Amino acid sequence: MKTPLVEMDGDEMTRILWGGIKEILISPFVDLKTEYYDLGLINREKTGDEVTVQSALATKKYGVAVKCATITPNARRVREYNLSKEWKSPNGTIRRLLDGTVFRSPILARGITPYVAGWQKPIAIARHAFGDIYDAAEYQASKGERAYIVVEKDGKELSRKLIRDFSDGEGVVQGVYNTKSSIESFARSCFNYALSEKLPVWFGAKDTVSKVYDGYFKDIFARIYETEYKTAFENAGIYYTYTLVDDVVARVVRSEGGMLWACKNYDGDVMSDMVATAYGSLGMMSSVLVSPDGKYEYEAAHGTVTRHYYAHLKGEQTSTNPIATIWAWTGALFKRGELDNIPELCAFAKRLERATLSTVESGYMTGDLIPLFRRQGITPVKLTTSEFLQKISSALSR
Ligand code: NAP
Ligand code: MG
Repeated sequence: MKTPLVEMDGDEMTRILWGGIKEILISPFVDLKTEYYDLGLINREKTGDEVTVQSALATKKYGVAVKCATITPNARRVREYNLSKEWKSPNGTIRRLLDGTVFRSPILARGITPYVAGWQKPIAIARHAFGDIYDAAEYQASKGERAYIVVEKDGKELSRKLIRDFSDGEGVVQGVYNTKSSIESFARSCFNYALSEKLPVWFGAKDTVSKVYDGYFKDIFARIYETEYKTAFENAGIYYTYTLVDDVVARVVRSEGGMLWACKNYDGDVMSDMVATAYGSLGMMSSVLVSPDGKYEYEAAHGTVTRHYYAHLKGEQTSTNPIATIWAWTGALFKRGELDNIPELCAFAKRLERATLSTVESGYMTGDLIPLFRRQGITPVKLTTSEFLQKISSALSR
């Protein structure tokens, strides 16, 4: 390798997977060069979360990062890890610094049948990875308080809107924002991704209720599509459609798949887990953050698989699916190879993906996939995580 990959290590079970994947599937085959950032919660606490910012800046500098799942602390985690505060979501911080869009796409293996019988093709989800509740100002209001949206310019108050008068009792308030430039680049990333993958774009929001906020998203998408993409879409035989988000959900379930579903930040967070699970397992969903200036951060869509980690700590052998985390590595290695013109690196990434899929397709897999596997003449075998990694390694060496 020429340029280092930005490596962002993480927490719990996925940190264990991370070490295993590197040791068993990458290091023996690739002259790996990384710039290492430890985003594990202990080190985030130690560095006052500075390490997260540094890793994002390194991604801006080098262009390609691979990230392990990390804990977003809540009150329980503050006690568990003895934290000085509830650090913000590292993914939120990285997305805020890089801007950009998260694309998630299920990893399909022969024999793994989706729960939604009609889904024949992958559904890619584009999650707008900027603003909304992930960078909100929140306040818990007491009885008798009043909350407003106040807008100032040059120290002068321009507007004041009452959100809620809490004279009847306490409650909560949330202030969220988004920006024209971020929504525009979200729309462009979606249309570009759709053109390169030849997928129609479905976008849904709630502009009937949120006329100003969601209406703003809807109008920007419509304008960018009409002025910049319509002709190219028509030539490619694909289309763009907007409907209310609840209608999109219903249509997606009835569809055969094969579209890019553009989602606002929160919808993308929730719906990508739904879609991933419906295709089989959270362990089979890949994810990449693409910034408007072409920086890439690859990761698994799932979290740190805490329940398995606690079993691991008790000395049990777990059967945690490493596939989405392997895809984070192969995605990053492939992109690095592409950017630095190292065809061997790209070829290795594809070979590792094939070795992984062929291992599953020949009946060897982790426990989450067993109930989904249906292939004539093959009885699936449940392996522990390390047995599965070894099995992939043998397939890779062949
Ligand atoms: P999770 O880690 O995704 O796991 C939820 C459940 O999904 C697991 O208990 C497991 O089910 C199943 N699962 C997920 N990934 C799997 C895999 N690779 N192999 C097998 N089963 C898998 O979500 P969570 O438990 O809600 O969150 C745990 C921590 O992760 C939290 O601290 C959260 O902040 C963090 N998180 C991080 C990211 C990120 O960094 N991108 C994303 C989401 C959550 P069974 O227990 O039934 O086997
Ligand atoms: Mg989520």
